Amino acid sequence: MSEAAFDAEALEAARKLFAGEARFMMGAVNMAGLPDSDLPEVAFAGRSNVGKSSLINAVTGRGHLARASNEPGRTREVNFFVIGDEKLRLVDLPGYGFARASKGEVKKFQNLGRDYLRGRPNLKRAFLLIDSRHGLKPVDEEAMAAFDLAAVSYQIILTKADKISAKDVAAVTARTLAQIGKRPAAFPRVLATSSEKGTGIPELRAEIVQACSV
Ligand code: GDP
Repeated sequence: MSEAAFDAEALEAARKLFAGEARFMMGAVNMAGLPDSDLPEVAFAGRSNVGKSSLINAVTGRGHLARASNEPGRTREVNFFVIGDEKLRLVDLPGYGFARASKGEVKKFQNLGRDYLRGRPNLKRAFLLIDSRHGLKPVDEEAMAAFDLAAVSYQIILTKADKISAKDVAAVTARTLAQIGKRPAAFPRVLATSSEKGTGIPELRAEIVQACSV
């Protein structure tokens, strides 16, 4: 991370919000099954195994809120979590690049993720999770193209930063920032996180609060 994006007050306000209620609301398998668009939402997307469930658990401070990614069924749904006394929702989008699923299945849940991104007026920002060790892969570029097409503001969140050195985290952050430079809908801040160590989690909470203006 470069200069601090949030002051102590903003971090504390975000901490407080996430210390309140956090509950699993529902999973949707199609667009008709989505909840009303009455609350601001931020969505989490990324390749399977990128650390999405762990990150949602870390942000909410609930160890088991987002189910284990490999639990059958759940990974095909768009899952909704209500935060902070009905203030906002976190939305867990189906992971992509899932090797074990059949092509037809992959298409079905990727289409749902895409339809959600295109058709959700209350979606304030999408977080695109990228493994710190790998940086952007071609399949992530495809996801970014979909975000750009849907004109959804998205921010890259590097995961598992504890697995590499601070120097390498700085390098992958800088490289990723350069790679998204020409992407129209990319948010110009890359945040490195570790769900394991808690690194970047207060800042991610503050990003969510800022995106939702709550
Ligand atoms: P998902 O498929 O994207 O939901 O990924 P998970 O949250 O299930 O994580 C995939 C694997 O990465 C699991 O074995 C996690 O324990 C591990 N993992 C997730 N986040 C971190 C992290 O911040 N640091 C480390 N070292 N491992 C992590």
